[in-house]
This record gives sequence, structure tokens and C-alpha cells, in this order.
Amino acid sequence: MTSPLADIIRAEIREAGPMPVSRFMALALGHPKHGYYITRDPLGTDFTTSPEISQMFGELIGAWAADCWAKLGAPSPFALAELGPGRGTLMADALRATKAVPGFASAAQICLVETSPVLRRTQHETLRPVLEQGGYHRPRWLDSTATLPDMPLIVIANEFIDALPIRQFIATDDGWRERCVVEFQGNLVFTAAPAPLPDISILPEAAHTAPPGAIAEICPAGTAITADIARRLKARGGAALFIDYGYGRSQPGDTLQAMHEGAYVPVLEAPGTADITAHVDFEALAASAAPAAAIHGPATQGQFLLALGIAQRAAMLAQHATPGQAKAIEAALSRLTHADAMGTLFKVMAVTSHGLTPAGL
Ligand code: SAH
Repeated sequence: MTSPLADIIRAEIREAGPMPVSRFMALALGHPKHGYYITRDPLGTDFTTSPEISQMFGELIGAWAADCWAKLGAPSPFALAELGPGRGTLMADALRATKAVPGFASAAQICLVETSPVLRRTQHETLRPVLEQGGYHRPRWLDSTATLPDMPLIVIANEFIDALPIRQFIATDDGWRERCVVEFQGNLVFTAAPAPLPDISILPEAAHTAPPGAIAEICPAGTAITADIARRLKARGGAALFIDYGYGRSQPGDTLQAMHEGAYVPVLEAPGTADITAHVDFEALAASAAPAAAIHGPATQGQFLLALGIAQRAAMLAQHATPGQAKAIEAALSRLTHADAMGTLFKVMAVTSHGLTPAGL
């Protein structure tokens, strides 16, 4: 199997030499013409996220945001930002839950950080009714966090960091080398860069003593975003919530994965047609945000949602449901919180201005 983007990548490798994994991932997801997120809405076909499983997820996060806002002294205006909002479902459910909070709707400047034109359109459609009903201002769409307004800030990011390009390194007998992609007999394959990495201090400490063959990962785009947000939180006050699959502590290992139509596929097989992600290293994110801001968690998604009252919310919804709906609510609750589904692999971490203790963490 191949793809138009694979041809473009082969041409670039012929021209410029081995392509770092980070460049490969950035092209596969974000190439302006053939990038995976640029050309399609993958939610529900290639993968399903928590807000798409149940309205309870976005509702509880809305309540979490309103609680942070109250603890900040109800600033007006404030920026309510979501990074990578997908179909807009989480934000719509959150805004439905917060529309009764006095002053919240008129104070909120909604900012959606989204690069995909396809998903921007879907977000627009999903949000339109709730914005009108709730008396919210029209949202602004931003290309990156760099242009977030300079005001108190509440940020939500669900399954956003996992989509940012990672760099990979492989331990060899004579040191660490960047993991790259080259062409071999017409196929794209992994290889190690010709020269060893001059400075291994960029690698997680846990990887320094790993044996030859080990792989280590860093996510410079992710840590740059958390560092930038932490600086903004320090300057203007606020909170940011990061939810993603990954590790509480840095550890070596290859977590690059590709998904197409709900199944894992080889990462290099047909770039642009599969979702490529990596597990999130929450220890590295926390280190980039501290000491500008306070870190809370990470907790598991199960712990966090149960602490916010998801079981009670499910019971309440079930009271007014048909038996079929009640079964679906129970199934969603279990999928979001159970260890053998999304409850444990997914972690939740908040970064806040000092002195703010967010709910659930
Ligand atoms: N948060 C949503 C969607 C997760 S999928 C949910 O939980 O359902 C990842 C989202 O991040 C998509 O909306 C994708 O278009 C967006 N995205 C990926 N890379 C991005 C980048 N570099 N900048 C902004 N948005 C990005």
C-alpha cells in the first residue's frame, strides 16, 4: 500500500537524506494538502474519543471549568480555550452544562485552537445551537496557542498532545541516534541517523542507561505548548486540563502507533491515511510547566471522573431514560472509567496558577 504523501516523503528523503520521525509525523498528520487531519474528520471511523462516547464527559469538564473560574474570582472576560476540539462535542456539552452558571457565558471568550479546516467546519455546526441558546459570544478559531488572548485562561485539551510530532532516538553501541525514515527497496523503513546525538540531556533521564536497541521519545511541540500555557497562567491566572493516554513517569519505549478504521496498521505504510499518535509523557509535560505553574496529578481518568461525580451523573441520567438508554449510559460509564477500557491508560493532569486547587485532582 502507498499514498500520494508517501511519494512526496520519498522525494524529500532523496533530496535531503534520512527524515527524522518528527518530520515524518508532522507531514503525515499536517501536510497542507495530504495530511491526515487536514483532509478528513477521523472521529468515529478511525478512533473514538471520550466526548464522543458520552455527553457526561464534556458536562463534567464544563463543571470543572466553571469551578476553576469561580475559584479564580469569576474574572470577566476570560479565555475558555480548547486545543484540538475534534467535532466540538466536548465544548458543546461543557457549554450546555455551564450556561446556568451566572456570569459565565457573558465572561467566556471561547477560543478553539484547530488546524484542520474540515474539523473547524464541524465544530462550527456542532456549537451553533448551544452558543445561541446559552447566550455565549461567537468563538474564535486560532492556528496555535501563540495567539491566545492575554487574559485569565482556562484550557481544555483532550487527546491533543498525542497528535503532536515526537522525536525518537535509538540507543546504539556508540551512543544515541535520532530515529529516521529512509527508502529501502521502494518501501519506507526506520533507520538510525548516521551520527550520534551530541547531547543526550534532551532525553528523559530514565532512558540514559537503557541498553542498545532501546528507543526513547520526546515531544518538543507538546512541552513547548505546556511551557507557554504555564507562563500565561502565571501572568494572568487560570488552569489547563490535559487528558490523554500515556505515562505518569517518563520511560523508554516505542509508542508510535497508527490507526485506520479502528485497527492498528504499520506506521510507515500509507502516510496521510492513518492516524499517527504517541503516548504522552506527563512527567515531561509537568517539568516543562513547573515552576511557572502548579501541577495537579496526573490521576487516572477513572479516578478523575469518579471524583467529579460521574457515577451520580450516570444514575441521574438513567432515571429519565428508557431501559435501552439506561444500558447505554451504564456501558459508557464503564468504558470511560474502567481499568480495562479507558480508565487507567488515560491520565488527567491540571496545570494552574499558584494557589488554585482544581476539582478532582
Ligand atoms: N479533542 C477531540 C479531538 C481529538 S483528535 C476529542 O476528544 O474528540 C486531535 C485534534 O487535534 C483534532 O481536532 C485535530 O485536528 C487537532 N490537531 C492536531 N494537531 C494539531 C495542531 N498541531 N494544532 C492544532 N490542532 C491540532
